[in-house]
Amino acid sequence: QYLIEARNLVKVYKLGEVEIEALRGVSLNVQEGELISVIGPSGSGKSTLMHILGCLDTPTSGEYLLEGVNVSKLSDYELSRVRNEKIGFVFQTFNLLSHLTVLENVLLPVQYNPNGDIKSATKRAYELLEKFGLKNRVRNRPTQLSGGEMQRVAIARALINNPKILFADEPTGNLDSKTGLEILKILKELHKEGMTEVIVTHDLNITRFTERIIKIKDGLIEGEEVNRVVYEVE
Ligand code: ADP
Ligand code: ADP
Repeated sequence: QYLIEARNLVKVYKLGEVEIEALRGVSLNVQEGELISVIGPSGSGKSTLMHILGCLDTPTSGEYLLEGVNVSKLSDYELSRVRNEKIGFVFQTFNLLSHLTVLENVLLPVQYNPNGDIKSATKRAYELLEKFGLKNRVRNRPTQLSGGEMQRVAIARALINNPKILFADEPTGNLDSKTGLEILKILKELHKEGMTEVIVTHDLNITRFTERIIKIKDGLIEGEEVNRVVYEVE
């Protein structure tokens, strides 16, 4: 059984009279433990696809099975439950809350987790922050951190609820190339520990570190490539 099974996803945005077909029939399977990149020009539908696969949004038509469960017609409430339990997100702009400390940011998803236990989550948050070299940053606010540190906090936050899959939308897009590689290295390590990951990027440099590359254009999958050599971050 696939972790992700998407069949013929269509997404139409309505802006008043205007309809934008962001996805025009996308089918995609992802196995547990895979490390995938999704590439394509701006406006090709990458974010839309990630939002659907990440249970932030539902398709206009088509089916999406997550761990065999059809989530394509869930209500917003049901969808948010699934998302909170199974999905972790990392964004280009980090999306940390500036009035909260690093630790509070990492613990944020636990508040929305009905199974969340703050005591064990706090322990896990410290472990994650230590793992990502942020032990002495716990009480800092995001504005006191570098870009790379902010993204590491965001990764810790994405992992706090033990998700099945991690989605990263241009995770290195706001970082210089050296820092970007540090982030990529962390994502690679998490993958080696078993995490399934989908990285959206238009940086061709990143795709060689992933096992499979999905190419999107004009709302369709234009092609797919399996990397015969998967690079490691030096
Ligand atoms: P990418 O991530 O590849 O840049 P997007 O999925 O963001 O592509 O966008 C695909 C198309 O859908 C674009 O034409 C974009 O303007 C449009 N679009 C994306 N999100 C929305 C939205 N929330 N409302 C209306 N149009 C949208
Ligand atoms: P990127 O291409 O870097 O992935 P976008 O600029 O396409 O990002 O989109 C940023 C956010 O704005 C996304 O969450 C997307 O859903 C939304 N968005 C994109 N295009 C539109 C649009 N035309 N109208 C409304 N929201 C949009």
